Amino acid sequence: MGALDAPRFQAVLHALVSISTPLESSPGPILRARTLRVERVIRETPDTVTLVLEDPSGAPVTFVPGQFFTVLVTVDGVPLRRAYSASCAPEAEGPSRVSLTVKRVAGGRVSNFLNDRASPGMTLEVRGPSGSFTAAPGNGAVRHLVLVAGGSGITPLMSMARTALATEPTTSVSLVYGNRREQDIIFREALETLARAHEDRFRLRLVLSEPPSGWKGGVGLLNRYVLEDEFSVLPGLEAGPATWFICGPEPMLVEARAALHSWGVKPERIREELFTRPHLRQSSAPTAELLAPQPVEIRLRGREPRRFVAPAGMTVLEAALSAGLSLQYSCTLGGCGSCRLRLVEGEVRMEEPNCLLPQERPLRHVLACISRPLSPVVLEDLY
Ligand SMILES: Cc1cc2nc3c(=O)[nH]c(=O)nc-3n(C[C@H](O)[C@H](O)[C@H](O)COP(=O)(O)OP(=O)(O)OC[C@H]3O[C@@H](n4cnc5c(N)ncnc54)[C@H](O)[C@@H]3O)c2cc1C
Repeated sequence: MGALDAPRFQAVLHALVSISTPLESSPGPILRARTLRVERVIRETPDTVTLVLEDPSGAPVTFVPGQFFTVLVTVDGVPLRRAYSASCAPEAEGPSRVSLTVKRVAGGRVSNFLNDRASPGMTLEVRGPSGSFTAAPGNGAVRHLVLVAGGSGITPLMSMARTALATEPTTSVSLVYGNRREQDIIFREALETLARAHEDRFRLRLVLSEPPSGWKGGVGLLNRYVLEDEFSVLPGLEAGPATWFICGPEPMLVEARAALHSWGVKPERIREELFTRPHLRQSSAPTAELLAPQPVEIRLRGREPRRFVAPAGMTVLEAALSAGLSLQYSCTLGGCGSCRLRLVEGEVRMEEPNCLLPQERPLRHVLACISRPLSPVVLEDLY
């Protein structure tokens, strides 16, 4: 048997959410869904909308620039959950508000639903914030953030740029932002306003693969050669090590990695966020080991160990939920860490990038929602 198809997986998750959410250990804010109301809908481009969401109780909506929220919606009777990154700076819209910006994906259920149907007064169930793709505040340090975005990948980087420029007078920001056509550029006016307001420390490079005649920005797909050209005109790179944040579709991430490698950037200075859900990534193509069912044992504190077989290609989380085991989880994208376990024995393949920190990897932390067993495995909780 292969992995659960997406609708069946969503149905399993939703059927079990009531079992898995009330936890023996105290849940963090990540695990609880809250209801936010759509206050404003801003049409950014013909296929992108920003939703300004507010907690009607006035409770604060806190997040770090770069983090995402998981939106739970039911479309045509099917419960679905999708990640959307905060695009505003924290508190920019008010302490109990956050803006999420959603670009249509061809045939996509949630992105089209939100673009077509979201309107002021509508309520959305939201979890989060989640994710470790964050630019920690500079604390007065002189630093350079280089942001590389493709399409909707601009959203977390917009939050970082807005925050750093507003709150860190010694931080400079460079943004290379690629799109197909001029009308696809999300936040164009806001970006150009920021560039004018912070000429000395915000460098904006808009790149189009199908530019109109007379276009003055960069030209081409954001492949390694175009990116190397773009990096070569960024000022300040020689002054000290920059921190690089890359967000966009998988092919762009692969190209950006190659460009940064040939540019001599150390991997620890590069942070990545991939907008493609783990099971849709090119890198998640099955290998021979994934084509075999694998025995799994999970040891949760205070409970009898549970043993079950993970069908070929299933994640540990999917298999555990199917076996009736209640595990903690939230985003199901490897972005929040709620389903973290320790690998005691065996081997798993975990989708990358994810929110694990480099120091957690030698401790054999794994994320159940994006880990598939490559051999018999034993896992235990960390709580
Ligand atoms: C951490 C994270 C943060 C994200 N933040 C944002 C954000 O701020 N703004 C935003 O617009 N999106 C964001 N996304 C993507 C978003 O979560 C959804 O995947 C996207 O909106 C598509 O969902 P859908 O239900 O419309 O498409 P689905 O119904 O799931 O998919 C329909 C079809 O589109 C393809 N597809 C699905 N997702 C993508 C994709 N991302 N790119 C290209 N093709 C795709 C599928 O292969 C399928 O054929 C983020 C994703 C992640 C993992």
